[in-house]
Amino acid sequence: MRMLRPVAVALLLSSPAAFAADPAAALRAEADKRTAGLDGKLVEWRRDLHQNPELGNREVRTSAKVAAHLKALGIEVTALAKTGIKGVLKGGKPGPVVALRADMDALPVTEELDLPFKSTARADWGGREVGVMHACGHDAHVSMLMGAAEVLAGMRASLPGTVVFLFQPAEEGLPAGEEGGAELMVREGVLDNPKVDVVFGLHVFPMPTGTLGWRAGGIMASSDMLEIRVRGRQTHGAMPWAGADPIVAGAEIVLSLQSIVSREIDPTKSPAIVTIGSFQGGNRGNIVPDEVVMAGTVRTFDQDMREQIQKAIERRVQSVAAATGTTATVSWYGANPVTFNDPALTARMSPTLQRVAGALAVPDVRQTTTAEDFSYYQAKVPGLFAFLGVNPPGRTPEPNHSPRFYVDEAALPIGVRALTHLALDSLLPAK
Ligand SMILES: [Zn+2]
Ligand SMILES: [Zn+2]
Repeated sequence: MRMLRPVAVALLLSSPAAFAADPAAALRAEADKRTAGLDGKLVEWRRDLHQNPELGNREVRTSAKVAAHLKALGIEVTALAKTGIKGVLKGGKPGPVVALRADMDALPVTEELDLPFKSTARADWGGREVGVMHACGHDAHVSMLMGAAEVLAGMRASLPGTVVFLFQPAEEGLPAGEEGGAELMVREGVLDNPKVDVVFGLHVFPMPTGTLGWRAGGIMASSDMLEIRVRGRQTHGAMPWAGADPIVAGAEIVLSLQSIVSREIDPTKSPAIVTIGSFQGGNRGNIVPDEVVMAGTVRTFDQDMREQIQKAIERRVQSVAAATGTTATVSWYGANPVTFNDPALTARMSPTLQRVAGALAVPDVRQTTTAEDFSYYQAKVPGLFAFLGVNPPGRTPEPNHSPRFYVDEAALPIGVRALTHLALDSLLPAK
């Protein structure tokens, strides 16, 4: 029932006199009325999506459902970036262009929740058969953005500007050799024509239902994956001097990389992480192998720091290789920039999120070291990404990607209010 309270409060506070003084308040009140009128649709859409999850770049059914919904609302629809959908809603009055984004893909996770609409889907993922589940809550994201589209399309004549709906595939990454996600959406011009001025996104997290959390600057980490190959020269384990040992060199590299954060980074500026999670080489105790291959990841919240750490890794890998008579290469892949909330936009929109969340607003939410490809939109235009709590009272929170990840559907209309209010308040000139 918590879900109904903010709507009721907004309606009570909105008198006709207040509307005349503040046209934005009139638009917001109308949006709230329309959101309340969505009735069970948000839940119905979300459950249908939850029961029919699709992996990245394979969101065929989801994408068709979204496209049909937008078309029925009279929104101009374009397909792009594999299974992506862009909807353009031109308001009746001139004004800026605001984009709202939802990601559509599910994860290779087998659902363990016992829900009436539990997913039993299975699919091929990189040559393996896997269970498929909306374990990151993207089903809620799609449902909320479909709801926001319905609300805003109903108010088209009074909208001072254009709203672009971005339904994006493959946020969670892809099997080797495929491209997709926000990076491909941007490359295919999703932010052009009409040229998007600002972009907003929400992500569900297991915070108390109805919480909205955001912060200026880096909110989610950049994520870069790296592979380090150290080439030595194979020899007998009893005669190491006759070769060059990539295992000893690799071990030195791992330790050296661990002192980048502690010795080269200013910890008062922003946190950073360097992890080597895989170390492969050799197959017998008495053979020095030819090669060691390591894989790892770097996380930062600051673009300069990200570049600084990448350079430090290259430098340290090369200097250890030179010192040990081996050769080494570093290759980078799977990059996501910092999910960086534009400070001016965040300051401007904070009152909006405060108003929607009320007592559950967390304007300086903690950073998370996970990453989001929403950052690709933010690298092009000012953007704001916020977290929506979906963990109901009395339930032990389960992290995103858990086979028991749970979405409290009472949060759905709150998410719609956040999206529609962000759009409306950013279309109207700042006071
Ligand atoms: Zn995820
Ligand atoms: Zn996600």
